[in-house]
Amino acid sequence: MMLNENVAVVTGAGRGIGRAIAVELAAAGAKVIVNYAGRADKAEETVTFIREKGGEGFAVQADVSNSEDVEKLFQTVMDKYGKVDILVNNAGITRDNLLLRMREEDWNSVLDTNLKGVFLCTKAVSKSMLKKRSGVIVNISSVVGISGNAGQANYAAAKAGIIGFTKSVAKEFGPRGIRVNAVAPGYIYTDMTEKLPEEVKNQIIQQIPLGRVGNPDDVAKLVVFLASSAASYITGQTFCVDGGMEM
Ligand code: NAP
Repeated sequence: MMLNENVAVVTGAGRGIGRAIAVELAAAGAKVIVNYAGRADKAEETVTFIREKGGEGFAVQADVSNSEDVEKLFQTVMDKYGKVDILVNNAGITRDNLLLRMREEDWNSVLDTNLKGVFLCTKAVSKSMLKKRSGVIVNISSVVGISGNAGQANYAAAKAGIIGFTKSVAKEFGPRGIRVNAVAPGYIYTDMTEKLPEEVKNQIIQQIPLGRVGNPDDVAKLVVFLASSAASYITGQTFCVDGGMEM
């Protein structure tokens, strides 16, 4: 149990990659706060999976793009456990369109959730982490933030922003014992990618050297490693989990 006695907050943990991360962290011994936006039923399912594995966790609704919600989320965690050891900024959305057709509200909502949310949650935990001079932050970016993608200018900008944010905060917080890394998944099978047209999915798979779509667990295992003391000399990095797609 690598993460015994650790308290972890995973944003967007009701479904997909966030759920897998929450369950893996709990299986490694952490107490896990399962944040979600609107799907309380899904978040409760995640909590059930955690408890079935003998772990401890509970769900908290909060929109990560809303500073009041974020304050309340972390106040709830502090009231219950008095600390946060691990923050996984995973919540994310897509509003894909070609640039000429992209509406300002689609730009704003993606940047607000995917990038401003990371800023707000990181800021909210930073005071207590800096005070105890320890903590781990893992930000979920995307290979699209490295390579760009037609039809995803908003999403790619947010995900590239996460990489710059990760490096900057790693430099700021490193001297105080806090590590900050990013994980850039490739094509992972979740609700987010399920809505892609079959033709697009097949095209993407052809670009993956390992020849298959990734599972949320493929990402979660790396996050648990980064959160553990096995990664104690690693900070400011971005790791692709993409079957070789990005290289
Ligand atoms: P998903 O299945 O669509 O799940 C998204 C999760 O984020 C849900 O739990 C959702 O909550 C939550 N969420 C959305 N907006 C939120 C907000 N404003 N505040 C709090 N929570 C919010 O997505 P996924 O595929 O697992 O993606 C997870 C992360 O990995 C995202 O950052 C995504 O960009 C990134 N990623 C995914 C892939 C991929 O291939 N799937 C590839 C690269 C990167 P509700 O359930 O309540 O709606």
